[in-house]
Amino acid sequence: MEIKVTRATQTGTRPKDEDLGFGTVFTDHMFVMDYEEGKGWMDPRIEPFSDFSMSPAAMVFHYGQAIFEGLKAYKTPDGKIQLFRARDNFARMNRSAKGLCIPEIDVDLVMDGMKQLIKLEEKWIPETLGTALYIRPTIIASDPFLGVRSSFTFKFFIILSSVGAYYAQGLNPVKIWVSKDHVRAVRGGVGEFKTAGNYAASLLAGEKAKEEGYVQVMWLDALEMKYIEEVGAMNIFFIINGELVTPDLSGSILPGITRYSVLALAEKWGMKVQERKVSIDELFEAHENGTLTEVFGSGTAAVISPVGEIRYGDRVMNIGDGTPGETSMKFYDALTGIQYGKEEDTEGWIETIE
Ligand SMILES: *Cc1c(COP(=O)(O)O)cnc(C)c1O
Repeated sequence: MEIKVTRATQTGTRPKDEDLGFGTVFTDHMFVMDYEEGKGWMDPRIEPFSDFSMSPAAMVFHYGQAIFEGLKAYKTPDGKIQLFRARDNFARMNRSAKGLCIPEIDVDLVMDGMKQLIKLEEKWIPETLGTALYIRPTIIASDPFLGVRSSFTFKFFIILSSVGAYYAQGLNPVKIWVSKDHVRAVRGGVGEFKTAGNYAASLLAGEKAKEEGYVQVMWLDALEMKYIEEVGAMNIFFIINGELVTPDLSGSILPGITRYSVLALAEKWGMKVQERKVSIDELFEAHENGTLTEVFGSGTAAVISPVGEIRYGDRVMNIGDGTPGETSMKFYDALTGIQYGKEEDTEGWIETIE
């Protein structure tokens, strides 16, 4: 399918790298295509970034039939543009699509559209280590209809945002708060899909964590409120007895691409890896007997986020000495090394945009 390009007549300028935050600076163009029942996805195009005009009855506003992805394009020291496992993001988007009765997309087509868009927006990619061009593919239900069913029309779009370094001040371990009253997702629900509603459902617990002085929520499983699932919008890892342990994908955990990458590197490095249930009680026990040495989250935004403190009701554990653990740093350095083209991509994870 041909991708039509309409160039913006006015373009913006990228702020200085040190002034960039997350998700506020958007580029001049976006990729859009539409879906109609019986016709399929059509009219893929790159056009000036602008507001959408939609009926207030559009189904996405009422019933939340929406999915998205999050990935990044990185600038290497020699000026190349690199994508990290981008196809895996669109494969995951198609799994989310199935889960929310949204028609699947052609991965080759959207990869092509995304690459053309990024090439066109090259000047928006910041260059300092840690900064990136954040990519947000999204699909929304657009039928103007208040009945409850799956929409007959959808809109797919990709917008781009220049983002600053997540760790401008270095990797400081974060404090996390275990929610005893709220859950993010339940097996059989949509927790394993990247859908808007999961985020809406996580906000209240997030506010409570902040009130208590914590930055993220650690989610327990919804059935028994016992087993650790995720932290905020990150997957979670533990070093227990020198082994890398992470909750197995239970159906209510989002299968992170960073998670898969950490597991792949660990195996390559000959580490012992366990994907299994980890209860909050086991974690406190391992902390008390000194076998829990590191905890870190994984996700596209932060890559690796060391955890320094966990609070569960009245119980608090401090992990490590206030600095990121050795293994956390090793994963951070290896992953960012590959993403920014400073290390060889031995896993075939990088695609370069020419
Ligand atoms: C996106 C997301 C992650 C991390 O996935 P990555 O592909 O590693 O960025 C983890 N948990 C939730 C709930 C998410 O939405």
